[in-house]
Amino acid sequence: MEREGHAEVEDRLRRTRQRYTAGRRQLVDALAASERPLTIPELRDGGVDQSQSSVYRNLAILEQCGVVRRLASSDDTARFELAEDLTEHHHHLVCSDCGTIEDIALSPAVESALAAAVDEARSRHRFSADAHRFELVGSCADCA
Ligand SMILES: [Zn+2]
Ligand SMILES: [Zn+2]
Repeated sequence: MEREGHAEVEDRLRRTRQRYTAGRRQLVDALAASERPLTIPELRDGGVDQSQSSVYRNLAILEQCGVVRRLASSDDTARFELAEDLTEHHHHLVCSDCGTIEDIALSPAVESALAAAVDEARSRHRFSADAHRFELVGSCADCA
């Protein structure tokens, strides 16, 4: 992650009087380097050398500060990614067999159709949406 990204993370932590410790920075770097959301065991297998309870606690604090987003999947294992406003807008492929979640980018045409759906919700339901989420649920290439 770029230096400005880390500065933004530090700001968000500071707002709730939390420090940007080396352990939290390591987690942010690991999530930034991944092309998909990761489980706690995957983070630790990928070189995060913190106890499982430290990873859990640090992720909870990062989530509370709006740095990390926790994703529910089809298994009981939570997956984590950086908040979308720190990365890039994307969507997810969720495997209902193994629980893996992949990041995907949708085409501009599909994104504008989704934006039109957001506008429609605004006028029809007077719902002011500031984001949209869309995921495909099915079987990944390994499970199909
Ligand atoms: Zn799968
Ligand atoms: Zn979208």
